[in-house]
Amino acid sequence: MASSYPIRIIGDPVLRQRSSEITNITPALVKLAQDMLETMYEAPGVGLAAPQVGVGRRIFVYDIGDGPGVVINPTILESDGEWVYKEGCLSIPDMAWDLVRPKTVRLAGIDLDGNDIDMEADELLARCFQHEVDHLDGVLVVERLNDDQRKEAMKIIRKRDMVATQG
Ligand code: ZN
Repeated sequence: MASSYPIRIIGDPVLRQRSSEITNITPALVKLAQDMLETMYEAPGVGLAAPQVGVGRRIFVYDIGDGPGVVINPTILESDGEWVYKEGCLSIPDMAWDLVRPKTVRLAGIDLDGNDIDMEADELLARCFQHEVDHLDGVLVVERLNDDQRKEAMKIIRKRDMVATQG
């Protein structure tokens, strides 16, 4: 049975590290993927990367409403266009920003059965893939913001941290 993890929050060093490639699909990795999906649905969110549950491995899960997917060792091969979307992150709760990123991407990787994945994604799915691949490179959405957005965001995040440590 799948169980859920606590989600790591900005400030946790695991979110800033580049995750390592996965060389073997083991039963433990399959269990991790199931637990990550459970964690994502419980949050709820449309995507979740392993560092967000404290695991520095290159795997993410997603479901934008068309059913669950798991991608191991993902790479974005191509990206095109521009699309604005109010993007948030489960590791930065209750915040979201209008952010421009490529509208379409082509993603490669492998699935849990070891089969090659090579898929085109558009709009929300493309956004989800870019966000999750960023996580595996230790990049958080705040680093994609413009200077003004980032200053404002960090001010709020720091203020919250202070409140959290005070009580
Ligand atoms: Zn995120």
